[in-house]
Amino acid sequence: MKLVVQKYGGSSVKDKERVMNVARRIVETYDAGNNVVVAVSAQGDTTDELIEKAKEINENASKREMDMLLSTGEQISISLLAMAIEKIGRPVISLTGWQAGFKTDKTFGNARISRIDTERLKDELDKRKIVIVAGFQGINKNDDITTLGRGGSDTSAVALAAALNADVCEIYTDVDGVYTADPRIVKNAKKLKDISYDEMLELASLGANVLHNRSVEMAKKYNVNLAVKSSLNKNEGTIVKGANKVEKMLVRGVTRDNDVARISLCGVEDTPGKAFTIFSLISKENIGVDLILQSIGRDGKKDISFTVKEEDLDTVLKLIEENNDTICADDVKFSKDISKVSIVGAGMVTNAGVATKMFEALYNAHINISMIATSEIKISVLVDQKEAERAVVAIHDAFLLEN
Ligand code: ADP
Ligand code: ASP
Ligand code: MG
Repeated sequence: MKLVVQKYGGSSVKDKERVMNVARRIVETYDAGNNVVVAVSAQGDTTDELIEKAKEINENASKREMDMLLSTGEQISISLLAMAIEKIGRPVISLTGWQAGFKTDKTFGNARISRIDTERLKDELDKRKIVIVAGFQGINKNDDITTLGRGGSDTSAVALAAALNADVCEIYTDVDGVYTADPRIVKNAKKLKDISYDEMLELASLGANVLHNRSVEMAKKYNVNLAVKSSLNKNEGTIVKGANKVEKMLVRGVTRDNDVARISLCGVEDTPGKAFTIFSLISKENIGVDLILQSIGRDGKKDISFTVKEEDLDTVLKLIEENNDTICADDVKFSKDISKVSIVGAGMVTNAGVATKMFEALYNAHINISMIATSEIKISVLVDQKEAERAVVAIHDAFLLEN
């Protein structure tokens, strides 16, 4: 008997019709003779609504209480889905994250799964029950509820598949696979038949939220057979898997990430150790710095610019203000109205023409680039947020329409 792990996202269970639709699809897989474990997200925009509710009461609520609140969204959908399956007449049980054995570290709001104690899950499967598990949540060492970060139900599903050694992990969402760009932005984006773990990890980390980046990281680590499909049709989806041996350079996708803030320290003294001073302060706060640009010194001064996630901007500005005795910047500028636009594909670095083509596409679209970063597998540029969608379309046209 095969074990199939499925995950249904918020849009797939947003109302009673969709819940019944998902229930029927699960039962179909079960009736075909498979054991089925399902991870589910909160219905529709529930998580956003809960965050708004919290803000109405306390703008600075503790992360512990936020997790207590947010975890309720998934608890609603697992129970409703289990009721729908009961109605069809199959044995089913819903389990919260902790009932399903999800143990995490202590980082409220962005916890990492440390292990899954699978006894309960296996017991229920032995009784031939369909097991419905709340995605996005677990408990820490103190038995406090934690959540895995926005979009984290994908990671719950992959973790279940890894822990239970499932034959396949199917992520069902509102698109029928991974596309060369977000189909909401690029109307003629194309569906990818398959994609490597590394490429998908890069796409997900650079803004393609169709999969939570940690889910891809975990799928790679445990070699999980991962597929992205639609919950609304039976189209063939996208397979995420290990890389093919011979692979020619191919741009696989274009992404956009609006969650970027840029900070510029202008007129910093052009002496050794300045970058070290600044970035060690930031890393001590566990804040990740992404793109970095340092100008050439002139008149003994230089400018250093870098980007962080928007949520970290205030903390970084405060750090700089508190330490400006040692940093000694003449001026500090910042902006949230920027986006990072990236192309992803294995073997990028060995092909000089790729960057040129990307810059040409932006030039032709009259879009200005404010920072650039390259790696083996991606090229990212920073542009004005209001130009970002146009940039994605222009770059997509330049690279991906010809295939
Ligand atoms: P779910 O609620 O099922 O988890 P998400 O909204 O998190 O769904 O993810 C699905 C969405 O991801 C799609 O509706 C699509 O707009 C977006 N998306 C972004 N980039 C891509 C891409 N490259 N391919 C497919 N979908 C993408
Ligand atoms: N409900 C959570 C969120 O909206 C987790 C998820 O959907 O994956 O982020
Ligand atoms: Mg999602």
